[in-house]
Amino acid sequence: MQTLCIVIPVFNEADALVENLEHIIARIGQLDGVRLRLLLVNDGSDDNTVTVAQALCEKYPQLSLLSLNRNFGKEAAILAGLNHVKDDAVVVMDSDLQHPPELVAQMVALWKSGVQVVEARKISRPSQSVAYRLMASIFYSTFDTLTRMDLRNHSDFKLLDRAVIDAYCALPERGRFFRGLIHWMHFSAATVPFEEPQRERGHSKWGAAKLLSLSWQSVSSFTSLPLHLVTVMGLFTFLVSMTLGGKALYDKLSGQALDGFTTVILLLLIIGSVLMFSLGLVGSYVARIYDEIKARPVYLVDEKNSRLPDD
Ligand code: UDP
Ligand code: MG
Repeated sequence: MQTLCIVIPVFNEADALVENLEHIIARIGQLDGVRLRLLLVNDGSDDNTVTVAQALCEKYPQLSLLSLNRNFGKEAAILAGLNHVKDDAVVVMDSDLQHPPELVAQMVALWKSGVQVVEARKISRPSQSVAYRLMASIFYSTFDTLTRMDLRNHSDFKLLDRAVIDAYCALPERGRFFRGLIHWMHFSAATVPFEEPQRERGHSKWGAAKLLSLSWQSVSSFTSLPLHLVTVMGLFTFLVSMTLGGKALYDKLSGQALDGFTTVILLLLIIGSVLMFSLGLVGSYVARIYDEIKARPVYLVDEKNSRLPDD
C-alpha cells in the first residue's frame, strides 16, 4: 500500500493547533488505497506548541513531530520535513486551515493518475489587505519580468511525488524558494484551484520586514539580472560621455571653452564610464560565481520517459 505524508510547518501555533489539526485529520478523511501519515515540523516555536504537539502525537498514532532548534523560517521547516519523510508522496500544508484539507483527496487522485506535482492555486485571497495585495502584485510582476516565471496565485500547498522530493532534497543550495524551485524543476504537474479562507485562529507570522527579505531572497536566488544592469548603465553613461565629450571638444576647438575646463570634463566622463563598465564586468563574474555556488543541477532526467542502455 502506498503512503502519503502531510507535512505541516508550525510556528507558535499552540492556541490553534489542537482544533486545526483535528479539523485537518477529519476533513482529509479516508483516502482510497493510500495510508495517511502526518508530520508536524515545529519551527522553533517559543510558546508551548511542542507540548501541544506531543499530546496530539499520543492521541493520533499516524502523527509524528520533528522539532527544529530555533525558528529557521518556513522554507527551512519545509525542507526539514521533506528530508525526514520516507513516504511515496508528500502534501505540504499550512496548519491554519487556509489550505483546505478537503482538496487532498483530489490531489491524491491526480497523483495516482501519474502526475508528479499537484499544485493548489489560489483563486482569490480576500483575507489580505489592499496594501498587502498591492505589494504581492508588485513582487510577482517583478519576479515574472526578471525570471520569466509567473508564480502569481501559486501557494506552498502542493503534493509532491517521491521523485520530486528526492530531487528537491538533493539540490545543494541553502537559500531556498520552495514555490519557485518546484516550478523550476518542471516535473509533470497538474493544478487544482482553491479559495483561500480567512485565518480563523491565531495570526499570520509574516511581518513586512520578513516578507521584504523573503522577496529579495526569492528574486536574487533566481536571477542575477540586477547585477547586469550595472553593465547596461555603464554603456549608457559611455554614450552620454561621448556626446558631452564631443561637445566639450568642439567648444574648445572653436575657442568658446574656458582654459582647462575641457580636460576636466573629459577626464570626469572617461573615468566615470570606465568605472561603471568595470563594475559591470566584476558584477558579471560575481553573478557567475553565485550561479556556480548554488550548484543547481544543469539538467534533471525524466526517468519515466527515458530508456537507457543496460550496462
Ligand atoms: N510558519 C513556520 N515558520 C515561520 C512562519 C510560519 O513554520 O517562521 C508556519 C505557520 O505556523 C503556518 C504556515 O507556516 O503553519 C503559514 O504561516 P502563516 O499562516 O503565518 O502565513 P500566511 O498564511 O500569512 O502566508
Ligand atoms: Mg496562513
